[in-house]
Amino acid sequence: MNFNFYSPTRVLFGAGRLKELPEHLPSGKILVVTDATMEKLGFVDKLRALLPGREIAVFSDVEPNPSDCSVNRAAKLAVEFGASAVIGFGGGSPMDVAKGAACIATNGGELDDYRRGGTRTFQKPGLPIICIPTTAGTGSEVTFAGVFAFQNGALKTGIVTPFFYPVLAIVDPELTYSVPPRGTAATGLDALTHAMESYLGQVDTPQSDGMALVAIRLVLDNLEQVVKNGGDTYAREQMCIASLVASHASSQAEICLGHAAGYPVTTHYHLEHGFACAIFLPETVRLAAIHRPERVANLCRYCDLPDAAALTSRIEALLDSVGCPRTLKELGGTPDQVPELVQAAMGARYIGNTPGGMTQPQLTEIFLNLMK
Ligand code: NAD
Repeated sequence: MNFNFYSPTRVLFGAGRLKELPEHLPSGKILVVTDATMEKLGFVDKLRALLPGREIAVFSDVEPNPSDCSVNRAAKLAVEFGASAVIGFGGGSPMDVAKGAACIATNGGELDDYRRGGTRTFQKPGLPIICIPTTAGTGSEVTFAGVFAFQNGALKTGIVTPFFYPVLAIVDPELTYSVPPRGTAATGLDALTHAMESYLGQVDTPQSDGMALVAIRLVLDNLEQVVKNGGDTYAREQMCIASLVASHASSQAEICLGHAAGYPVTTHYHLEHGFACAIFLPETVRLAAIHRPERVANLCRYCDLPDAAALTSRIEALLDSVGCPRTLKELGGTPDQVPELVQAAMGARYIGNTPGGMTQPQLTEIFLNLMK
């Protein structure tokens, strides 16, 4: 058996550990990449208070499903300001923009040059990237991926490069206490999708398996509670662990159907990333039960569930209880939109990692079922 493991990001995990940031920051000027809500909620002031005397520039224009234009603008600011490091502070969107900006700042060009089928690849490391997540779900703080919306939002796709690995991730559950219930639900389901896809997809490793199982169980045991009661600090912490561990798993294995099909769903229906991916979880379990039954049986054992049907019911009940849409029809989806959605999803790098693989007619049927 051959497999690889590579995860170069140093992780500091724990409530209150944001205060350790100064010890780990390189000298020089710092660019903080965040969004307007984060700034309004006082997160940026909190960071400034920790770094007295440090020269800081703030780019707070990151939008959900961040655009390549935001990355280009943040990179320009990094260069003009003379930043020596970039902090991504927020949910997955600011962290991804920080990664893109840090690498464009040193490699030049525009982000669009570097997407799949583009004209360039990153040739040298970016500015050092430090990620501080304030949502529990994307795990972007430990991945080599950045996900961006190109062509005025028409194309959402990921860029992967080892240069996107942050040097440091500070995962401080206290920073997630203010996430509202809907955001908590969507990001928590993102973590679940990372873990389920890592475990059930066709690319896995013994190490990703262990991490995926732990993360799945943590989400099943804690997400409903934290959506109901955001003040439950124990459940918040467990979800932060789930997010981190699920993301480590998906970095060593591969994501599949939910992410490939979720990207066009996000952009088309303006649905949160985590919900858009999780809509496809029941179908992923169904396919895995056919093509990887031993995996499903093992997952069921680990989750104290009798069989695949019970696992599917448990996932469906979770989606319902945290408010995740179950069909695209309820978002205004109609069958005539299916060909465009299928084309975009079939173009995603990891669609082929779906249990049993994926064909265009199969995916068409999956989308058509979601329009009923
Ligand atoms: P987000 O970063 O877009 O944030 C959503 C909203 O939550 C924003 O309005 C933000 O201001 C708010 N928010 C963030 N933290 C908050 C807090 N503590 N309190 C109150 N509000 C807060 O959403 P997200 O779900 O974290 O990230 C989604 C993005 O991450 C998508 O673009 C997705 O594709 C990407 N992603 C990237 C990776 C990766 O490995 N690079 C992995 C998964 C997802």
